[in-house]
Amino acid sequence: MMFRKILVFLFLTTVALFLLLRPPAIRLNVEKLSSEHIEEVKKLIVKLEPFINEKDARGELPALTIKELESPLNAEEKRLLRAFQYLKGSKIGVRIPFRGFSQGEKNLIALQGQKIRSKGETKELPPQFLSPHVYKAYQDMMAVMEKEIGKRLFVESGYRSSAYQLYLFIFYLSNHDYSIRETAKWVALPGYSEHGDPEHLALDFINADGINGEENAAEFEVLPEFQWLLKNAARFGFALSYPKIANSGITYEPWHWRYDGIATS
Ligand SMILES: [Zn+2]
Repeated sequence: MMFRKILVFLFLTTVALFLLLRPPAIRLNVEKLSSEHIEEVKKLIVKLEPFINEKDARGELPALTIKELESPLNAEEKRLLRAFQYLKGSKIGVRIPFRGFSQGEKNLIALQGQKIRSKGETKELPPQFLSPHVYKAYQDMMAVMEKEIGKRLFVESGYRSSAYQLYLFIFYLSNHDYSIRETAKWVALPGYSEHGDPEHLALDFINADGINGEENAAEFEVLPEFQWLLKNAARFGFALSYPKIANSGITYEPWHWRYDGIATS
C-alpha cells in the first residue's frame, strides 16, 4: 500500500515538474511585435532565406513540409516559428476560413517558360505549380480568351505549401512594421491560403505587360482580360475569391481566382 502511494507521489511530482519546467508558450503581440521578437524574426529570416532560395531554385518549394522548414533552426527558433504557425486568424480580424495545413504536394504540373514584358524588358516568370485538373482548366480557359480577345493571362502564383506560406508571412512582417494584424491583411496565415488547396487551387494572374494589380487593384480591374474573366471564368470552373465588397474586411484581389469546378445541375 505504502509502495503504491510512493509511486503515485513520484508520478505526480514528475508531471508537476514537467509542467513547471516546460518553457512557456511564446505570446506574440499581434499589434506590434516586441523588440526582442523583432530581432528574433530577423535572425529567423537570415537563416531561412538561403534555405528557401535553394529549394526554389531546385523547384522543390511545392513539396516543402513544415518539418523541413524547421530543419535549419535550433529549438528556440522552432518555438518561435510554431507560435506563428498556430496564430488564430479569428483573433486578428481574419475573415477567411482556416483550410488546413498542406504538407507539400508532389503530383503537380510545372508551368514553365511564361514570358511577360515588364518595364520594357522581357522577363520569364519563375515556374509555378498547378494540380493537373486546374492546369487543364486554366489552359482551356486561356485558349478561349486568346481566341476571343487576343490576350492571355499568366500565372504569377499557383500552389504554395503551408510551410512556404508560413515563411512568406514572417518574411513580409517587416513591410508592415512588424504588426501581425496588418500583415495578415495582405499575406494569408499558413493554412488559410487558397494557394495551399490543390483541389480548389487559387491562381494569381498577371498580364503580358506585367500588370498584376497588387500595387494598384484598379490597374488590373480595367484590363480587358479581367473583364473577360468576370463574364467567362465560371464556365471553366474559376471564381473570384475576394470580390470588391465594401466594409467586408477582406482585401479586394481581382487577380486571385480559385478553381471551384464546374457546377453540374
Ligand atoms: Zn492569391
